[in-house]
Amino acid sequence: MSPAPSRPPATAAWRLARRAWRLLYSDSQRCFAVADQAFQRGCRQGDQGAQGWARLARGFHLIWYATPQEASAELQQAQGCFVAVGDRAGQLLAQVGLARCAWRDGLFRESLERVLPLRDEGLRILKHDERGMLLNTIAGCYSELGESQQAFAYMYQALRETSAAKSNGFDVVLYCNLAHELIQLGDYPQALSYLDEGLARCEQLNNARLLSVLGINRIICLSNLDRPAEALPEVRRLLGLPADKDGRGPMNAHFETMALAALRAGDVALGEMLVERARDMLALGALPDELGTLRVAEAELLMARGRWTEAADRLMQPPDAPAPGESLRVRCMHFHALAAVHERLGQAGAALQALRIWQTLHTERALQASGARYQAAQLQTELLRMRQALENVDARRRRTERAHAELEAAHQQLKQKIAEVEALQQALRQQATRDFLTGLFNRRHLDDVLPAMLAMAQRDRQPLSVVIMDLDHFKAVNDQLGHAAGDHLLAAFGALLGAQGRKSDVACRYGGEEFCLLMPRTPAAAARRKVQALLKQWSLQCQDEPAAAAGAGTFSAGIVDSQRVAGDARSLLGAADAMLLQAKRLGRNRVLVQDGGDRAAA
Ligand code: GH3
Ligand code: MG
Ligand code: MG
Repeated sequence: MSPAPSRPPATAAWRLARRAWRLLYSDSQRCFAVADQAFQRGCRQGDQGAQGWARLARGFHLIWYATPQEASAELQQAQGCFVAVGDRAGQLLAQVGLARCAWRDGLFRESLERVLPLRDEGLRILKHDERGMLLNTIAGCYSELGESQQAFAYMYQALRETSAAKSNGFDVVLYCNLAHELIQLGDYPQALSYLDEGLARCEQLNNARLLSVLGINRIICLSNLDRPAEALPEVRRLLGLPADKDGRGPMNAHFETMALAALRAGDVALGEMLVERARDMLALGALPDELGTLRVAEAELLMARGRWTEAADRLMQPPDAPAPGESLRVRCMHFHALAAVHERLGQAGAALQALRIWQTLHTERALQASGARYQAAQLQTELLRMRQALENVDARRRRTERAHAELEAAHQQLKQKIAEVEALQQALRQQATRDFLTGLFNRRHLDDVLPAMLAMAQRDRQPLSVVIMDLDHFKAVNDQLGHAAGDHLLAAFGALLGAQGRKSDVACRYGGEEFCLLMPRTPAAAARRKVQALLKQWSLQCQDEPAAAAGAGTFSAGIVDSQRVAGDARSLLGAADAMLLQAKRLGRNRVLVQDGGDRAAA
């Protein structure tokens, strides 16, 4: 299809309004709310195109959930917006809506005259579902004018235009209309099966009005199939719906249809209440079929009360018995009731006369039915095909969802595995560089970092102090207090060493009870002060411990400063070790620093 000419550019407000429009059948409440939002936005931004679509959505919504007057006021405004921005598709749809308003007012001929001239252009420039709406409106006019064949033909075309895959609830409207047409022709069982189908589909939508229209048609079917009792739950459900945008809408409540079902089911009190409600409602304006049905319901109420003469009078009361514009179905119903009343009153001649008229009407209805049968059958086949297509789409969606869920689960599993592996790697890295007993870095890490730290210190011309500490008489602890006590002492020293110092210091366990501390940007003198403070703290910490009694509450340390010792990492460590050895020789419990001249200083 070629794109619609001169559509205005798609702004955010315009897209929002179009979204509202697409929600018309599937979610009537959200449709209205989103349309409002789009309208406000369109107004703020002076976006007439958006205002037009927002008003169009609201206008169509109001056709069902308000009066035709309110709806047509909104649609006129939409029309104005579309003319201003040159949106031809919008204009056509506003016209379709206005024709619908006339239709709701019972002006079926006028409605048809409005909508028929839009057909060719509409089929050219409107989108699928919108073409379906146009054709469905034409079908509705023909239906009410009693031209079933035309109605079926247009309904069929509407259905073909409505793409099943992108169903937005409009297919339910078509189920409903097909059922209505079958009802008019007297094919109640078939109509009922389509209504059940439509009701099932409608469960997936949020459109109370559509649900209630399906329900009304279902009540008609059940009443005419001599199963009025089954209609009673439906009657009660519909009576529970509020008469606003959350419910069935304020118009066309069809209380008269419900009254007939209640009376035929034997619930006279409910029937009477409904007759009264129908009278009140229809006093405000009614379609011929509604008035005709009310008349029959009133007569059946009188019959139920045994007031046969009044019932006969009610059915023969001029000028509205039966009125022009009433469908064959309602007229048949009327004369059928009239014949029954006359018969009960013993007026055989009048009864026969009424039966004759009923027969003539019935024959006409049967003729129409046979004429429309081919198209009705075609329509039914098409609906079946559409349902199949919908089911396929549904199944595909479910499959995709399932696949998606599986993928998501696999993804989660993978994520968890990756996290586990990362944690494991982290632990391994930790194990590779840390000493298990003290938590300090190990010798391997020292060998790794010392050359780099030395290179950096030399580049920055900064001192790097290297300290080697060895616990004094440690072997005595092992020997006298046991290996576990030795371990405990090592861990305690590790904790002390790890807790002190700057972040940049690197504390390692160098060997059994030997430790090494690398202190960047620290000259030997400062390092010595630091290590002496550490020695003091360690002695204090150990003084009351059994280790001290064993003579092991102190340590000896050797310190070298990279700026005073030439050579690489290995020679630095060697020099620090030599200082340590000297400290041991001098009696332990001390800190020796190698000055530049290879002399030790305590
Ligand atoms: P000095 O003052 O001369 O350093 O004497 P010392 O007893 O501390 O030194 P020596 O080298 O004679 O003994 C060190 C002992 O430390 C020997 C070894 O069994 C013990 N050792 C080494 N690693 C561990 C360890 O992880 N746990 C325990 N409990 N003992 C250890
Ligand atoms: Mg040692
Ligand atoms: Mg030792």
